[in-house]
Formats: sequence, structure tokens, C-alpha cells
Amino acid sequence: MTKDIIVEYHQGRCIGAQKCIEAAPAYFSFDGEKAVLLLSQQENGSSVLRLRMNEEQLLRIRKAAELCPVNAIKVADAEGNILVSDTVEVQQQGLREITAEYDDLKEFVMDKKGYFLIRIDQSTNKIEVAFCPELNKIVVKVTGRKPLEIYQTIIKQGLISRLDHAAYLGRELQKAYIALQKNILYVQDDELVL
Ligand code: SF4
Repeated sequence: MTKDIIVEYHQGRCIGAQKCIEAAPAYFSFDGEKAVLLLSQQENGSSVLRLRMNEEQLLRIRKAAELCPVNAIKVADAEGNILVSDTVEVQQQGLREITAEYDDLKEFVMDKKGYFLIRIDQSTNKIEVAFCPELNKIVVKVTGRKPLEIYQTIIKQGLISRLDHAAYLGRELQKAYIALQKNILYVQDDELVL
């Protein structure tokens, strides 16, 4: 069965994560910075593609839109039914608004698995993470270029047990990554001087 589908893509929102390209390479390509919706035309500042699609094609384009972290892709049918929206709905009634607060001195809890020592090596352009199960004893060293591959490796190796510790690790790895990119000093737990 086929269906007339309208795909609307807001390139200005794209952050280049390329999820859409992985999901639907027949419809999206990468220009080095942002995704491009192939065979589309410009309408009111957006790229619009109108196409009759079979179920497999529609599945792929829906997946691409659903995976986009910034809601840059809208998928609708010719009758105006929105299949994947490009807007985020904010619940009007009963929305909980919470001001973030945390006191590191009072609330910090040590991970029973151990702790990490993080540093960067400008000569190899890599981040090094040493794992210590007890004070001043390194038993594992993980080296990599990107935060994602490093923290996923650490999780897979079972070296971390707390959510707050994992969040901390992600934050420090991202700082280390930025320091490498910008060729600036990285000191674990200190703010970057940009
Ligand atoms: S998934 Fe969204 S943010 Fe990522 S490349 Fe595609 S359009 Fe851009």
C-alpha cells in the first residue's frame, strides 16, 4: 500500500547529529555541517518533500523524524494528519516546574565501585581515564577520543554504579573533549577557561 506523504525539514534547527541519515539515507544526506533533505524544494524557509511512499519508505522517514533530537523533521500525510510532529507539547495543567539545587558538600555520595582520574594528552589528541577501586590504586586505564565511546566502555566494563557518578563522568569527559578541541588546559573538577 502506498500513501502521499509530506516531509518538512527545518534545516536551521539541525545540530548535525546525523540520526536522520542513519535511519533514512535515501532521503537525507550530510553537507558537512547539517542534514540535507534530498529532492526537496524550499517553502517558507523550510525544505519540503512530497512523495508517494510505500510502507517501508514511510517507516524509514518516520524513524528519521522520531530520532531527530531537535524536532527538525515533520511528517504528515496528504490529508493533513501529522504522523511525526516538529513541535514539543508543554502540558498546560499540572506542569511541575522545579528549580535545580544541589549541595555537593552535603549530598555527595562516593561510588562504592571507585573513582576516576581524568586527563588529556594533547600529543595523541586523546582522553585518558584511570579507574581506582581504592585510594591511589589504578587498575584500569581507558583511552579514547570521544566522551561517548569512553563512558560506554566504562559502563560496559562495570566500573561505575551510581547515576550521579555517571553524570559527573559525562560532564568531565565533555570538558576534556572541549579542552582537546580548543587546545586549552583541562584540570579535572575545575571549570574550563575559554
Ligand atoms: S537528526 Fe535532526 S539534528 Fe540530526 S542531522 Fe538529522 S535533522 Fe539534523
